[in-house]
Amino acid sequence: MITFLDLKKINQPYEEAYLERIKNVFHQGQYVLGNEVVEFEKQFSHYCGTSFTIGVGNGLDALKLIFDGYIKLGKLSKGDDVLVPANTYIATILALLECGLQPILIEPNLDTYLIDIDGIKSNITSHTKAVLVVHLYGQLCDMRVISEYCKQRDLLLIEDAAQAHGAKINNTHAGAFGNAGAFSFYPGKNLGCLGDGGAVVTNDLELEEVIRATRNYGSHIKYQNRYKGFNSRLDEIQAAFLNCKLPFLDEDNQKRMVIATRYLREITNVKIILPKINHNIGHCFHLFVVRVADRKAFQQYMLNNEIQTLIHYPIAPHHQPALEEYRYLHLPITELIHQEVVSLPMSPVLSSEEVSKIIEVVNAY
Ligand SMILES: *Cc1c(COP(=O)(O)O)cnc(C)c1O
Repeated sequence: MITFLDLKKINQPYEEAYLERIKNVFHQGQYVLGNEVVEFEKQFSHYCGTSFTIGVGNGLDALKLIFDGYIKLGKLSKGDDVLVPANTYIATILALLECGLQPILIEPNLDTYLIDIDGIKSNITSHTKAVLVVHLYGQLCDMRVISEYCKQRDLLLIEDAAQAHGAKINNTHAGAFGNAGAFSFYPGKNLGCLGDGGAVVTNDLELEEVIRATRNYGSHIKYQNRYKGFNSRLDEIQAAFLNCKLPFLDEDNQKRMVIATRYLREITNVKIILPKINHNIGHCFHLFVVRVADRKAFQQYMLNNEIQTLIHYPIAPHHQPALEEYRYLHLPITELIHQEVVSLPMSPVLSSEEVSKIIEVVNAY
């Protein structure tokens, strides 16, 4: 069986280096916000090219802390509209709702599955105060155009980069284009830890200061609380693992790129709609997502040939019972995407023989 994502195999090479770091943490005794978190925040800022990284509990909290931070700074108010793609993972939308903001779900471009400048322009109103882009499946939105537009209109631009670690245009990385970017280090992400983890990256000194306090009860100095905060700190043990793995992120993404390039060139079955890749815009191939009209039959066929596929995501957010207030929306592109998408196996540890087999089986469908 070719599994969709073999996490044990992905993490195995880091075992020794990780245990060595854990031993230091264990003996050193600083178990919360210790040296490993400090080191990771420094290295991740360096990697992304941002002034600051704040390590937090998970990707959802990273998003929440950014929006909560801008509310605390008076740059957003409860009830403000925020444009967000309708076809994202539900966490993106939940973060806005939990901050009392109003998500405006907009249709993505059917070629890229991303929101684009036309979608943004046609949904903007006087209530719109921010745009939350999602670099879905690892492909960057057209950030040069979008950030220029947001600057002109005085809109905050936030990036959900939870699927886009290391995706870049020239030398600008995901998370570094807008006012702030949110990352998740959930195990299956391109940079994944051994549990939950997340980070905010930003060049905005004021936001950095608020979030650094808010993740830790709102405390800027020990036992002095400037803000009504939460507890959402990147765990020291997870930071230790991320410190082992970060130096190899680009190499891993390169391996994903090689596999994606083969899929794009060698899958020739007309029943399979391949993703359209703009080679001028960065992609780190978190997922390789195709569309098939009879998805259920295709997945079963793949399984019969011992290849596991997954769906990202089977139900559109506005059709989830949790978001019942959006049920009235008619979003044909989003709905079509959710009916037809299938993710082929994609990971830095797939062998070239496995990739050949997947291509052969897909072409014989
Ligand atoms: C994974 C993911 C999140 C949430 O991250 P968690 O760490 O699981 O909270 C948010 N947005 C997108 C696009 C994601 O893929």
